[in-house]
Amino acid sequence: MAPYEPIDLSSLKTRVKEQIQAAFPDAHIDYCLTCGLCASGCPATGLEGLDPRKFLRLLVLGQDEEVLSTNWIYSCTMCQRCKHACPMGIDVGRIVYEIRGMRPKEQRPPNLQRSCDLQKKSNSTGIPNEDFVWVVGDVLAEVRKNEPEWSDLEAPIDKKGAMFYLNQNAKEPTVEPEEMVPLWKILHRVGIDWTYSSKWWDGANYCLFTGDPDDWEYTVRMQAETVDALGCKYYINTE
Ligand code: SF4
Ligand code: SF4
Repeated sequence: MAPYEPIDLSSLKTRVKEQIQAAFPDAHIDYCLTCGLCASGCPATGLEGLDPRKFLRLLVLGQDEEVLSTNWIYSCTMCQRCKHACPMGIDVGRIVYEIRGMRPKEQRPPNLQRSCDLQKKSNSTGIPNEDFVWVVGDVLAEVRKNEPEWSDLEAPIDKKGAMFYLNQNAKEPTVEPEEMVPLWKILHRVGIDWTYSSKWWDGANYCLFTGDPDDWEYTVRMQAETVDALGCKYYINTE
């Protein structure tokens, strides 16, 4: 008797794999040679006991419960190193993105989902837009007062027709507002005509990481419409 029985892959129930292939026809999960090149350069290798090669094996073998429940999918940075290393061109990061979207919202990392939900209203920290405007003005006034060489520094908001629209990581005005100043100084020193907006000013997009394309598209659209309404020519995404 053979020490093992071969597995007939065609007999396995692989619902998640099929869902991914329907949503992402170039996934080509079955092309995997199990060579491990993806795992060799992946920053998520070894976390949660998995790596991209093992993760694909779970998918191919129909281990749907583990695929959908492992938090390894949130260790993946979606950097796509695996895709570039893979002889078969398999994009594990893109596959991970699809699986994140299959998780019910209440089973996702709460901070991630909360940041995305807040962002769909305005910004990922949930501070009122008026607070952002106030903080920018307050920090600017402090710099002008305490640093005479920067007494003409500017941090424009809603400046119509500015050449560049700049967004802002929402954490900075919320918890470390002085971190906004170095970039203001650089822009000022080189004579850039720029502006923030008083709404949709958050440059981070947590909805990119939840796996919901509709949420991601919505937040990007709102930012893009804001840039257009101000008549800015270029959009600088600081994130
Ligand atoms: S995209 Fe994800 S799986 Fe691929 S190398 Fe980057 S972290 Fe690893
Ligand atoms: S590099 Fe590609 S073929 Fe090799 S194990 Fe990873 S996904 Fe499979």
